[in-house]
Amino acid sequence: MHIDTITTITSPDLDWQQEALCAQTGADFFFPEPGSSVREAKRICGMCAIRSTCLEYALDNDERFGVWGGLSEKERLELRRTSH
Ligand code: SF4
Repeated sequence: MHIDTITTITSPDLDWQQEALCAQTGADFFFPEPGSSVREAKRICGMCAIRSTCLEYALDNDERFGVWGGLSEKERLELRRTSH
């Protein structure tokens, strides 16, 4: 009961990540070395059922690094600029 309460408090917003396709492929594609291609990460995001939730989460939480919801950090920055 106590543990259930803690789980509910700490992780309700992250339940969607259980369906994350990248959780099955590993994080390497999604956090490439600077200058490396993010094409493979984007391809996987394109097949992911929770892509829009993922992108929304990244924007809401100001995630600066890696590919989230099919967009690179640069593209998310651009999206923020144009959507305000
Ligand atoms: S959209 Fe991409 S980064 Fe987000 S959970 Fe799916 S595979 Fe992972």
